[in-house]
Amino acid sequence: MPDASAEAPGMARAADAAALEVATAGSEVAVPVEPATADPSVSGADSVAVTEPPPLPMPTEPGGSAIERAWFEGGAELGERVWLTRRAAYERGVWSLDGAARALLATPGVTLERAEAAVSLAPDLPAAHMEWARAVWLVGESPLSALRAVGSALLAYARHPEGALWLAGSLLALLAAGLVSGGMLSLAAASSIAWPHAAHDLGDSVSRRMPAFGRVALLGTLLVAPVALGEGLLGLAASLVAVAAIYATRRQGIALAVACVAIVAGAYPVAELAGRTLGALPGDPVARAALATSRGLVSPEDAARLAAAPEDDLFAQQGLARLARREGNLGRADALYQKLLERRPNDAVLLTNAANVRLHLGHMESAFDLYRRALEVDDSATTLFNLSQAYGRAFQVENLAQALELAQAQNGDLVAELTRLQGTQPEGFVVDLPLPLRDLLLSSLANSDGKPWAAEFRTRFAPGWMGTSAAAAAALLLLALLLGLGIGARLDASCRCVRCGRRVCPRCHEIAARADICSPCNKLFNQPELTDRVLRIARISALRERGARIERLVSGVSIAIPGMAGVLARRPLLGFWGALCFSIALGALIGREGAVPDPLVAGAAGPLAFFCVAALAGAGYALCVGAALAARGRA
Ligand SMILES: [Zn+2]
Ligand SMILES: [Zn+2]
Repeated sequence: MPDASAEAPGMARAADAAALEVATAGSEVAVPVEPATADPSVSGADSVAVTEPPPLPMPTEPGGSAIERAWFEGGAELGERVWLTRRAAYERGVWSLDGAARALLATPGVTLERAEAAVSLAPDLPAAHMEWARAVWLVGESPLSALRAVGSALLAYARHPEGALWLAGSLLALLAAGLVSGGMLSLAAASSIAWPHAAHDLGDSVSRRMPAFGRVALLGTLLVAPVALGEGLLGLAASLVAVAAIYATRRQGIALAVACVAIVAGAYPVAELAGRTLGALPGDPVARAALATSRGLVSPEDAARLAAAPEDDLFAQQGLARLARREGNLGRADALYQKLLERRPNDAVLLTNAANVRLHLGHMESAFDLYRRALEVDDSATTLFNLSQAYGRAFQVENLAQALELAQAQNGDLVAELTRLQGTQPEGFVVDLPLPLRDLLLSSLANSDGKPWAAEFRTRFAPGWMGTSAAAAAALLLLALLLGLGIGARLDASCRCVRCGRRVCPRCHEIAARADICSPCNKLFNQPELTDRVLRIARISALRERGARIERLVSGVSIAIPGMAGVLARRPLLGFWGALCFSIALGALIGREGAVPDPLVAGAAGPLAFFCVAALAGAGYALCVGAALAARGRA
């Protein structure tokens, strides 16, 4: 495959550098980008423009690392080249070589062979699994194996640091937007049934002779007043809460409070968490550089950042040790690992990798000691496999067999894979462990600040005072809710006649025996002896027709307007859940590309994950509407 060997190196660099560009500059997070290089000797190193702008730096000088050498100069056959590259990468603790996989996938019309090679080079890269699924599908293999590949793409997110943070951050951003818009929708739905009464009662407080349009205009002015004052949609939410609360039953009051809590939670803590997650790696160049030493191609900038990081930065020191190991500088790697072990004497990954270096240096006793210490902490199959190799090198055949057996019992698949990679290599083939992601991600998350992203997110719906702090927003919404409830407790509210829908107002009309029935209906139904029989029958059948018409209208509105189903069925909480599910489903479809651009990790797996979320939320919405319609049918 000559074209691959000719194009791939450039593409690998372009893809990795582009990924870096996207991860830093492309996100909406304000990311403090460090000066490109701290070390002038590095900035002066060979920088070769691979494509048109921007000029991209070479990851390391060609031939600088055994991994790059295997990839750039490996066998002519793709399979052989992949095998050589993987072997070199596993030996140096790079178990997922994203850059090489991206290079393979960058050419249009990816063949099954290439897709398989990409997955085998970068088993943690969701995009590679998706290309594999596509290739399997196109080749016409069973749809089940394509589906399985799709499933493995979604699972790969959990193992990919950038992918996991990108997906988690984007989903949190979706949740934040869903909580805000779902809360607003349900407030709008809950208050919309109170608007006619509010308009009438408000008009009465001015003049009972006020025309209907004047009352509507007055209410409308009051509703939008907070928007005019610059508080945006969040201000509108406050006035909607106040109006809805005046006419709310206890249940409706609880649903209103839940909607307010959802809005504040979405606008503040959830949005800040989303910002923190999305900005964690882009805002932590040292962690990113340390990660690069364990997951791909290392740029001169990465190397310079690691070298410039303070000595107490554990991840930077680990990155430097890995870099030294990759570049074949075993003495330096050994010194760095020993220093790291002084600070973390019980770190199984450090112990294993330090043992490997010692083995390569020929210090057998020390290597055995480190392997044993590592196994005391974590008896991983990889360490057992390495130990068996060390025994092999020391000609201790019995111990070799025993360690290998234990390794196989731990993880047979992995040991088979390592044995296959080992091939006929006579010398001990030992495998470094990759950088543990959990600690790195947690530390990046802890150092990340999500507030700028959340503030930017809020400018869209809360440009005013309510957008400045969670306490301000919560206080104003609570005040609106309490104000509404207080007015509701004192107000002689008007309502609609339960029989005919005519307005019944204690101030404007003569009140019948019951407050919720107009006097003609009261006569018709409760004092039949006072009405003409023929007229009464005609009137009742007209009212029945009206009832059937209204039922049809209610069903239509319940289905067409999110949040209305629950409100009309007198299940206000169901209305809130429906509105929330609807918002999340719609948001997932609109924002299927993620909250920030995909850092060349997700590929087609990104939109797929969002389609899955949209399908789930859509099903939840249908369930809410169905339950509300059923509840109304029973009533
Ligand atoms: Zn009536
Ligand atoms: Zn009135």
